[in-house]
Amino acid sequence: MGKEVYRCIECSDKASELYRDYSNGILKITICDSCQKPVDKYIEYDPVIILIDAILCKAQAFRHILFNTSLNNYWKLCAFCLLCEAYLRWSVLHGSEPSGDPADIIRYTKEWEFYGMFGLAALELSAFCGGVLLFLWLWVGALQGGSLQLGPLLRALLLSCYGKVLLVPVVIWEHEYSLICLGLIKLFVLTSNSQAIRVILNSCRRLSVAAVAFGFLSETCAVRACQQLPCSIQDLLGFQ
Ligand SMILES: [Zn+2]
Repeated sequence: MGKEVYRCIECSDKASELYRDYSNGILKITICDSCQKPVDKYIEYDPVIILIDAILCKAQAFRHILFNTSLNNYWKLCAFCLLCEAYLRWSVLHGSEPSGDPADIIRYTKEWEFYGMFGLAALELSAFCGGVLLFLWLWVGALQGGSLQLGPLLRALLLSCYGKVLLVPVVIWEHEYSLICLGLIKLFVLTSNSQAIRVILNSCRRLSVAAVAFGFLSETCAVRACQQLPCSIQDLLGFQ
């Protein structure tokens, strides 16, 4: 019996392999001992189908991505999403008109205000992740006496922020409804975050929703605290 490093996407039971190679070109998908279903049917699927299922927040797709793949570029994804968010906020702040000129984007990156927006977006993300992890650490670790691995949780939280990539089309095509789009994208990202926590902890939906709500609350508090500072970041950057 090999080391159980994978998870069944149906019941979240541990598994030692996703498929067995019979070396003469025959591959057989492993069947879960617990639920008698294929451990991970997605290994046969096209990545687009997996992405669609992930967008639909299917727990199976989340389990496939978080447990049975080795996506380690989540920091790059996170930085890219923050850049998009910073650019969108910057353009909303200045009421910029849509422009198809690529030189505009280069000009914007030279603006200090843009980096200020990037810093604020990073701060909000840190406050959110910190709030979620603190809540789960207190609830699962301290109150229920369970063990909590923060590394996989943080990875799941950052990966499940992939919805922020939707900011790219907002940046490119739309400025008039940017705030509404931001709100909808935020709702989608929070839903994905909740599903990711639920999958990682194999917990009930209420716990993951409560953790995300606490994270959102701490994020809001961080934003308010920044605005209340005697010398806020906005003042430093000379906004308003
Ligand atoms: Zn199973």
